[in-house]
Amino acid sequence: MSDTGLDTASIRRDFPILKREIGGHPLTYLDNAATTQKPRAVIDALVDFYEHHNANVHRGVHTLSEEATALYEGARVKAAGFLGACDPGSIIFTRGTTESINLVAQGWARQNLRSGDEILLSEMEHHSNIIPWQIAARETGAVLRYIPVTDEGLLDMDEAGRMITEKTALLALTHTSNVLGTINPVADLIRLARSRGALVLLDAAQGVPRQPLDVTALDCDFLACSGHKMLAPTGIGVLYGKPELLERMEPPSGGGGMIRQVWREGADWREPPWRFEPGTPDISGAVGLGVALDYLSALGLQRVQAHEAALTRQALRGLEAIPGVTVYGPSGGVARGGVVSFNVDGVHPHDVAQVLDEVGVAVRAGHHCCQLLMKRLGVAATVRLSFAPYNDAADVERLLRGIGRVKEVFGDDGEQKRALP
Ligand code: PLP
Repeated sequence: MSDTGLDTASIRRDFPILKREIGGHPLTYLDNAATTQKPRAVIDALVDFYEHHNANVHRGVHTLSEEATALYEGARVKAAGFLGACDPGSIIFTRGTTESINLVAQGWARQNLRSGDEILLSEMEHHSNIIPWQIAARETGAVLRYIPVTDEGLLDMDEAGRMITEKTALLALTHTSNVLGTINPVADLIRLARSRGALVLLDAAQGVPRQPLDVTALDCDFLACSGHKMLAPTGIGVLYGKPELLERMEPPSGGGGMIRQVWREGADWREPPWRFEPGTPDISGAVGLGVALDYLSALGLQRVQAHEAALTRQALRGLEAIPGVTVYGPSGGVARGGVVSFNVDGVHPHDVAQVLDEVGVAVRAGHHCCQLLMKRLGVAATVRLSFAPYNDAADVERLLRGIGRVKEVFGDDGEQKRALP
C-alpha cells in the first residue's frame, strides 16, 4: 500500500503486461503520457464484447444490435459521469484528443471565426492543439497568439491577462503539460476568458487521467481527452461540448448514422452527439473506455493524483541530486502532474532512453510533439518519464539507477566510454 492509499501491488496484478521482462529485467513502464497499459478488466471487456454482443449500433432491431447499442450508449453515460457533464448528449466519441480538437477547429471555428478574431494558445501546447488552429486560421483569417511560458515552466499569467481581450474568440489550452507536467490554472483562465466573451477549449489529454476534472464546475466550453491515456484501448476518445454550442454546430464530416433525412440536394442532421459521429463508431473501444473509467473511479482520482504527486516528488528529488542532470518544469510546491522531463549533460536523449531500455526502463525521448516548447527551453529534445496508478517507488528507484548506468556508459563529460548493445 502506498502512503497515498493506493495498493500498487494489487493494482499491478491487474495489468498482465507488467509481468513482462525486458532484457532480463522487470518492465518499468514510465511512458504513460504516450499511452498507458490496460488492466485485465478492459482486455476482458473487449473479448466479451466480440464473443457475446458484437453487432452494429443504432440501426438494428435484433437482440445483438440492441445489446451493442446499450453497451455503447452506456459507455457514453459513464464518460459523462466521469467528466461531470450533466447531459450524455454532450459527450461525442472520437478517436482521441487529436480528433476531438480537429472536430471543434472544423465544426465550430469555420462557422464562427471571422478575419481578425484571435485564437489564443500557449507555448506549451502539443501539436494536436496547434495544427488544427493553424488550419482553421488559414481558412477564416483568424490570428493565432501564444501565451508565453516563464523560465520556471509556468504560463505567464500577467501576459495571459493582457492577451485575453475582446478580440479573443477562443482560448485553447492544455490542462496539464505533456512535457513539463505543469498544471495550468485553468479555472482562473476560464473565468477571465468568460468575462471577455471568449470560449475555452481544454486539451485535457494529460489532465483527465491524473486528477478529478469536472466540466460543469470548470465551466469550460469544450474538453478533449484520449481513452488510451487512461487505461482504455487505443482508437477511442471524447470531446465534451456544451449542449447549446453543439446544437448550433455543423458536422465537419458526414456519413451514415448522423442524419434525420436525406434528399437529393441535402440532408438534415440528428441531434448531438450522433450528428458528430458519422459512420460505424469504435463500439468495442467505447465499451473498453467505460470499463477503464469504472476502474479509475474505483481507485479514486484523488488518490491517483496524490500517488502520482508522491512519485513525482521522489523522481524530482532523485534526478536533481544527480550531477549533470537538468530537470525542466516547475519545482517546489507548484502543482504538477505526473510527468517529468530532463536531460543528462552531453548525452543525447535518445541515448539515455536506449541505455534505460537496456535495464528494462521504458521512457520517451524526443520533442514530444511540442516543438514550440522545445524552442522555448532551448533544447531539441528531452527524456520524459510519466506515471500511471500502477507505478511505484521501486520504478522510480530503477529509473534513477538506470541514470547511474547512463553516466557509466557516457561518463560525466558525455563522451561514450562503453559500447551500447
Ligand atoms: N494533447 C496532449 C497534451 C497530449 O499529451 C497528446 C498525446 O500525447 C495529445 C494531445 C494527442 O493525443 P492523441 O494522440 O491521443 O490524439
